Amino acid sequence: MSPMAGGGEERRAGPRSCPSGVCREGSALLGVMTGGGRLAYLPEPVFVDRAFADRLDAAGRPEMRYRFTEPCAEAACAQWTGTACGVIDHILDDPDATDGTDVAQDGGALPVCGIRRDCRWFAQRGAAACGVCPTVVADTGGSATYRSTHG
Ligand code: SF4
Repeated sequence: MSPMAGGGEERRAGPRSCPSGVCREGSALLGVMTGGGRLAYLPEPVFVDRAFADRLDAAGRPEMRYRFTEPCAEAACAQWTGTACGVIDHILDDPDATDGTDVAQDGGALPVCGIRRDCRWFAQRGAAACGVCPTVVADTGGSATYRSTHG
């Protein structure tokens, strides 16, 4: 693993970042789920290499215990609605989708997550996305992340 290049607030060229990606070589570790059920974000995502991905896989269900970020696949992802990510819309628009902890707990401050300038969810829903983001578990990863976990 090595830290991703960060710094600056300029939007990079290229795809937006999915904040609920899969544990695999080439993705990056976004944060670690705490015992309190909220994600502790790394200041900057850390690249996941093959060895690290294999170790987390061997321990079982890495997307239950961590969150990963990778480029938003848009139309190649089953969660893509055609114009947007269906995951964050579902979370924010379905009152039963969260456990009631869907507000920032630090006086309204947004999490320091390291991908905001490129984040798909933030681009789509702004600060409201960041309010629920720490509670999201991407258990199964890939194209069925949120719906598979929360049915
Ligand atoms: S905290 Fe906000 S900007 Fe950061 S990953 Fe979550 S939704 Fe995206």
